[in-house]
Amino acid sequence: MLSAKAGFVFDTLEFRPSDVKGPCDVIRKLEYELQTFTEKRETSWAFTPYGGGDVDGPSNGPAPLPWDVEAHPAHMFHDEVKVVQVPHTASIKECHRCKGTGSLQCSECHGKGWTRCLSCHGDGWYTDSSGYKERCFYCQSSTHGHGRQDCLKCNAKGRVACPPCDSYGQIRCFIRLTITWKVNTSEHIVRKGALPENLVKEVSGQVAFEEEGNRILPLTQFPDNTINLASAQLVNNHKNAFLDERIYAQRHQVRIVPVAEVEYGFKGGPGKFWVYGYENKVYCPDYPHTCCWGCCCVM
Ligand SMILES: [Zn+2]
Ligand SMILES: [Zn+2]
Ligand SMILES: [Zn+2]
Repeated sequence: MLSAKAGFVFDTLEFRPSDVKGPCDVIRKLEYELQTFTEKRETSWAFTPYGGGDVDGPSNGPAPLPWDVEAHPAHMFHDEVKVVQVPHTASIKECHRCKGTGSLQCSECHGKGWTRCLSCHGDGWYTDSSGYKERCFYCQSSTHGHGRQDCLKCNAKGRVACPPCDSYGQIRCFIRLTITWKVNTSEHIVRKGALPENLVKEVSGQVAFEEEGNRILPLTQFPDNTINLASAQLVNNHKNAFLDERIYAQRHQVRIVPVAEVEYGFKGGPGKFWVYGYENKVYCPDYPHTCCWGCCCVM
């Protein structure tokens, strides 16, 4: 896996085999990951404008309880939110906002349909400096007479459409059920060497163990006992962590990520770098020309 002994290139600088000091240590990092896929159900009242059509009300049968509504996630172990109407809970009501009229008083003109013309100050005439009078250009053809300008917000009608009922005057009320599926991940990385743990999570390794089920039991037989201990602790934590949610499924796995620690001497002194994961990612914090995270790929 490691090409350090053959020499390799960072940016434009080349490491030659003679730069590498001593043996390169190949460490295996163990990563234990537990995922609990949970489901949460919340209900709330909701409404939509009602302009006609079928209504699934109590006359169709009793409404099911939230957990009895049939609903499944599109994919296992993917975050998802689904909003559905609880069957048999709909009813038609008069719109609470417009009291069934379908329209609201215009707030711009307070229902009059016009505002005072700002050009002629409501006079209806325009007088120039020589005393010549003519009809004000801006309000001469307005609906509500001279000196008044048509309200643009309500088209001079004095009333505007009611948003909640979309001008129908009626709304359809129902119980809305929001279902949230969420992947809750906990992990434990067995500490060996100085490579930051967040880098280990990003690369692929070999899956040494994996299991999936409705509920899983902690690992007890893994050769490295720190993994067994981590599994027992994380499985127990998850058992008590989701009190208002249902555990839909669980899975866990142990990954082995190869990490090679290399000491080198190069332009100005010794240093250390790490090659990790099957992608052969390199972490070289002391190297002056690395990208922002101090890592790059060995080709
Ligand atoms: Zn309304
Ligand atoms: Zn208006
Ligand atoms: Zn005017």
